[in-house]
Amino acid sequence: MKKTFQYRIKSNQETYQKAEKWLSLCRQLYNDCLNERVIAYKENKKSISQYDQMRRLPQLKKVFSGFKQVNSQTLQDVIQRLDKAYQGFFRRVKNKEKAGFPRFKGQNRYDSFTLKQTGWKLDNEHLDIKNVGKFKILYSRPIEGDIKTITIRRSPSDKWFVSFSCNNVPQKLLPKTKKEIAIDMGCQSFLTDSNGRKVDNPRFFKKSEDILTMRQQRLSQRKLGSERRNKARLLVVKIHQKIFNQRQDFHFKTANNLIKENDKIYIEKLKNWKTFKGLNRSMRDAAWFQFFNILRFKAAEASREVIEIPAQNTSQLCSKCGQLVEKDLSVRVHKCPCGLEIARDWNAALNILRFGQSLRLIPRIS
Ligand SMILES: [Zn+2]
Repeated sequence: MKKTFQYRIKSNQETYQKAEKWLSLCRQLYNDCLNERVIAYKENKKSISQYDQMRRLPQLKKVFSGFKQVNSQTLQDVIQRLDKAYQGFFRRVKNKEKAGFPRFKGQNRYDSFTLKQTGWKLDNEHLDIKNVGKFKILYSRPIEGDIKTITIRRSPSDKWFVSFSCNNVPQKLLPKTKKEIAIDMGCQSFLTDSNGRKVDNPRFFKKSEDILTMRQQRLSQRKLGSERRNKARLLVVKIHQKIFNQRQDFHFKTANNLIKENDKIYIEKLKNWKTFKGLNRSMRDAAWFQFFNILRFKAAEASREVIEIPAQNTSQLCSKCGQLVEKDLSVRVHKCPCGLEIARDWNAALNILRFGQSLRLIPRIS
C-alpha cells in the first residue's frame, strides 16, 4: 500500500535561504506557465499541454541561469501541479460545480517543492538535497516501503517539513480478535461504543480553542499592514496548527484502540456536513470526518473492516425491542416501555451494531 511519512526538518540559515530561493523560482515558473496558457488561449484559442511546457525547460535554463540550480524533476513537477489545477478546474466546470480558474500564486502561496528519484540523498538522519543543502530529520517513526517522491514544505509559521511518499509499504496485520463493535459519534462525549464505553474529548481541546478565539479577536483589532498585525496573524496560525496536531493525535490514538480490539467496526454515515449552519457544528462535524478517514486508513493498514451503514433512526429506536421512543437532543437517557433504560448514545451504538450486522446477512446483488 501507499503511505506518506512526514517529519520536521532543521538546518542552517544558508540552507533555508536556498530552499526559499527554490520556492521562489518554482512560484515564478508556475506563474509564467499559467500566464503562457492564458495568453495562448485568449489570442489564438490554443491550449498548451504540460508536455509542451516541459519541453521548453532546457531553453529556460539557458536564458535564466537561476533555474539551472533547481532539479529538473522539481521544475517538471511545477508544471504537473499547474496541469492538475487546470484539470480540476475543467472537471468542476463539467460537473457544474463551483469552479475557480487556477490562480497566480502570491508570495506566500507557493510553499513546497517536490523531488523524484534524483538530486537527493538520505543518510540516516540527514537529507542532502543537491544545490540546497543538508537537513536534519527529526524522526517520529521509521520510513517504510520504497520512497517514490519527497516534498519539502515550509509551514506558514516558517517551519520546514519533509514528506516521503512511499509505495509497497507492508501492511501491519493484526491477529484476528473475532470481535465487532459499533460507535456512535456524540456531542457531549466524542464517541460511545456498543459496549457502553465512552471516549471523551480531551480537555486541552477546549483550552486551545479558547486561546484561538482570544488571538483571533486580537488580530481583528490590529491595523491592516502593520507589524503588530503580522505578529498577531502568526500567533493565530500557530494555535491553529497546535489544534490540528492535538486533534490528529487524539484521532490516531482512538482509532488504534478500536482497531486493535476489533475485526469489524460499524459506523453511521455522516450527513453532508457542509450544509450545516454554525461554526461549532461544522468544526465538530469536520473533526468526525477526519476521524473516520483516519479510522478507515488505519483499518486498511491492519486489514480490518470499517463498515458504514446508512443513517437510520439510531437514537430514537429501542435497541432491545425495536420500538420508536422519540426524544429530543436534551434527553440523554433512552427509557423504553420494554424495560430497557440505558444512556442514549449507548442505545444508538447498539442500533448501529444491529443494523450493520443485519446488512451483512443480506447477500450482495452484484
Ligand atoms: Zn424497548
